Amino acid sequence: MKIDHIGLAVNNLEDAVKMYEKLFEVTPFHFEEIATQKVKVCFIQMGDQKLELIEATEEDSPIYKFIQKKGEGLHHIAYKVKDIYHELETMEAKGFRLIDRVPRLGALNKLIAFMHPKDTHGVLIELCQSQLDE
Ligand code: ZN
Repeated sequence: MKIDHIGLAVNNLEDAVKMYEKLFEVTPFHFEEIATQKVKVCFIQMGDQKLELIEATEEDSPIYKFIQKKGEGLHHIAYKVKDIYHELETMEAKGFRLIDRVPRLGALNKLIAFMHPKDTHGVLIELCQSQLDE
């Protein structure tokens, strides 16, 4: 199982992007607003993995609530899977609670699903499957 990206909740996407540009001299390769999740995101390639910076666009966005509760910082770790439907079925059979029993469309046109952090020692895990060959 490989990490695809690490999701970081930020107050201001532009400020966070500038900070990473300064820190690692990296350039973001993708900006996207995901209206259904009330967020805008920016991806930065870091070797084989990516960082996903996430800013809430509405006060009822899950990211807004997350930052209110915990502050900015690590939001989730996303693992790359080949067959997300199969993985979700397997994980549920093993007793893990799923936030998304059916995958939804995430950034970069990927199929994504979140698992419940109560069963994973407080870490929000995202499964993500590319719909392209990677
Ligand atoms: Zn993510």
